[in-house]
Amino acid sequence: MHCIVLVKQVPDVSNVPEDAWDTEKGTLRRGMLESVLNPLDLHALTFASTVTAADPDARTVYLTMGPPQARDVLVDCLARAPGEAVLLTDRAFAGADTIATAYSLACAIRRVEREFLAGSREYLVVAGMQSVDGDTAQVPPQIAEELGIEQVAYVSSPGFGADLELRRIGPSGTETVRPRRLPLLVTLTACTRPLYRSFHLARRARTAPIHEWSAASVGAEPERTGLRGSRTQVYRLFSPAEDQARRCVMAHDAEELLSLLETAYRAGPRAAPDADADGSYDLAGRTPTYRGELWVYAERDAGGVHGASLALVGKARRLADQLGVGVGAVIADAEPGGVPQDLIARGADRVYVLQHPLLADPIASSHARSIAGAVRAFRPQALLFGATPWGRELAPRVAYAADCGLTADCTRLQVGDYVKGAVSLVGILQQTRPALGGNVMATIMTRASPTQMATVRPGVFTIPSADPARIGEVVRVPVSPAADEVGIEIVAVEPTAVAPSIRDAEIVVSGGRGLRSREEFQALLEPLAHALGARLGARADLGASRMAVEDGCAGRERQVGQTGQTITPRLYVAVGISGAVQHVSGMQHADLVVAINRDPRARIFRYADIGMVGDLARIVPALTAATEAHAHAGR
Ligand SMILES: Cc1cc2nc3c(=O)[nH]c(=O)nc-3n(C[C@H](O)[C@H](O)[C@H](O)COP(=O)(O)OP(=O)(O)OC[C@H]3O[C@@H](n4cnc5c(N)ncnc54)[C@H](O)[C@@H]3O)c2cc1C
Repeated sequence: MHCIVLVKQVPDVSNVPEDAWDTEKGTLRRGMLESVLNPLDLHALTFASTVTAADPDARTVYLTMGPPQARDVLVDCLARAPGEAVLLTDRAFAGADTIATAYSLACAIRRVEREFLAGSREYLVVAGMQSVDGDTAQVPPQIAEELGIEQVAYVSSPGFGADLELRRIGPSGTETVRPRRLPLLVTLTACTRPLYRSFHLARRARTAPIHEWSAASVGAEPERTGLRGSRTQVYRLFSPAEDQARRCVMAHDAEELLSLLETAYRAGPRAAPDADADGSYDLAGRTPTYRGELWVYAERDAGGVHGASLALVGKARRLADQLGVGVGAVIADAEPGGVPQDLIARGADRVYVLQHPLLADPIASSHARSIAGAVRAFRPQALLFGATPWGRELAPRVAYAADCGLTADCTRLQVGDYVKGAVSLVGILQQTRPALGGNVMATIMTRASPTQMATVRPGVFTIPSADPARIGEVVRVPVSPAADEVGIEIVAVEPTAVAPSIRDAEIVVSGGRGLRSREEFQALLEPLAHALGARLGARADLGASRMAVEDGCAGRERQVGQTGQTITPRLYVAVGISGAVQHVSGMQHADLVVAINRDPRARIFRYADIGMVGDLARIVPALTAATEAHAHAGR
């Protein structure tokens, strides 16, 4: 089986020098950052080389789109695993958003199929889940939509039995997925071992031919590429400090850490952060640019509707009231049950029900086609999705199929205007999100798009309480996804386990990959949890990051985060946890957050109230001893 590996040159956001930050303009001087191969693409390389190693006739083609200097990443790929390399480069691509990028890359993939693979359809398109600069995870699913193929997202490993099988993080657990037909697009998480450069390959790579293709040579239509083909535009960049809910105070030793922690804990719960700030907006008789309802996609989960979707219904209600329009919620499922009534009780005026047996399985292509059909038929002014793993897989395909702009992973939504020169947009959705690995915040608007679309990070808005007396309308929308269009089959699901005990704990001490073994995890964290519980008179328990769970340090039922548990303890202590967005979404509403990490730049400190930089093997026992000593002294 052949592989076309998509790679991207990105700025090295893991190491941003102090002076790369233009404090006046609030922007990063990108030219000061080193350019590297997107880290997740290294996992795509490993995956592709495992797949092609099983077939002596298989070919590997590395494909990137970018300026002429992006050829460096192709040389880097060839230095790690043999293959052919294509650079898609043209000034016509400049300013492309994800929709225009996906379209251009899909055109190039068609040419690779014709010219390198002699028209064979026996191939995988392989990519990292997302790039660290844009961080949208939108381009791969939008390529799949353009090519009319299936995507398997969040893949951790390939398996070979009689057929290829893929293990991936699914909406309700770890899934084993089997392709029914090829080509197939596969996006990788950071779970494989990256391939290293070999001396022998690196020498050959320096002189290997790199094919340069222009927009015209891949048949890309000019109005669908670059800025002309884009539907979203960044209009404000600012420092994340402006948006940060917490200011981390650093302790210098374990005694000081305990003292800060205890003082803050005993001061009682702090006021809830103003995450729901809607701003005020008055149309003042002007004609808004967009018309129609504000829609929310209602993602199903075991309990009915995912909390992220319910919170969005509440947010949409408040924004819709500012604009004087209705709120719609859309469900795509085999059996909606009592969900429409719940959505109405939370604030929806109308619930659009797309019902079909084929919509029982979480297969993005059939859901996307059905939802995009409803968007085209009813033309809401906006459609919001929770930025859950499923929402981030589905929304890009819906947006592409409905020809709409999409902003990923927003942390703030407001209604506002945009007036510059001849451009005047009234009552639009201002969509704010972190970019460049969280180094900058960007406010984005949708333009030249019939509907504004965004995914919104779970946990940033509060879930509205239900009012069973609210009245709304249920609209049945006919859909007809075809069984033979479904290109993958989910053959097994290992459901995510739940430990109610950590949900109820007032103190959670959580460990990450910084703890090197199950023994170390238990030997260091259990005594600390016990000592803090005794000292503060509260019930304490242990949590873990996904990586600690993957490494066998803790059971899956203790995982905190987007695919684990969302918890709101009085005190959360993060030990050796980096603060990845998927982890943070499970603990960001803890009342008091303490972080211990040896890396002073670790993202977890942005979400912590109190921190200490240093080796956990030294700090944790010292903190435990200090807590125990104080506990005894306090009796
Ligand atoms: C779809 C999807 C869903 C996901 N869901 C979740 C989820 O629910 N929960 C979750 O947690 N993750 C989730 N992840 C994974 C997430 O992206 C991160 O990979 C993960 O959270 C990282 O775990 P970590 O912080 O323990 O490990 P790392 O990122 O490896 O960080 C380890 C940290 O330990 C520090 N450290 C190392 N040694 C020491 C030492 N001796 N002393 C002090 N500090 C030390 C390092 O500086 C580093 O900051 C998901 C990913 C995907 C793609």
